[in-house]
Amino acid sequence: MTRKVELKVALVVAGSMIGLAVGSAAAQQDQATTQHALAATPECSNNKGETVRFGNTDSGRAGLAAGMAIREGSGSPRVMRSNFSAAPVEFQQFIDRHECAHHQTGDVDRPHPPRNGPEHLMNESISDCVAIRRLRDEEGFGQASFEKVAAALRSDMAKIGFPASSIASRLRNLAGCFANPASAEDLINSVLQQRGLHNQP
Ligand SMILES: [Zn+2]
Repeated sequence: MTRKVELKVALVVAGSMIGLAVGSAAAQQDQATTQHALAATPECSNNKGETVRFGNTDSGRAGLAAGMAIREGSGSPRVMRSNFSAAPVEFQQFIDRHECAHHQTGDVDRPHPPRNGPEHLMNESISDCVAIRRLRDEEGFGQASFEKVAAALRSDMAKIGFPASSIASRLRNLAGCFANPASAEDLINSVLQQRGLHNQP
């Protein structure tokens, strides 16, 4: 009981940055000069079988890579990347798949849960989990690549001002998902089933 309460509190704090802005940047000492090549975008389609396209925007905090899962005014599902060249390629790959997961699980078309409430934080944990499993199973990420993602996440969350406990909590979830042999698809299917959404291409 106590442990559950602690985890929830930690997640609430962590949640304020993981919704729209999975942030990243290069190491602080060379942040101003390091520019990374852009990662290839992954395959992505939502739970309705619509293709999700990726685009770039200059908005957002300079030096901090971030992603956003949206439907455009036209209704097309999109992932908008901002400042991706600030992040190591592994972390760019992670952000793309995290945002894609918000489309895959139907989050984008559901009413937005209260910010930093339990439902919102659960959605973020699920997207993190889907993203890291896709990287493991589709891109061959091993421990070294996992550590690059974790390091970028840790560094950016610290830069934004999250307490160590929040950072540790998010990284624990990520490590647990990476270690669990279940696939991203397993998780997506169970989420869609729980929500009564159908995966119908
Ligand atoms: Zn998210």
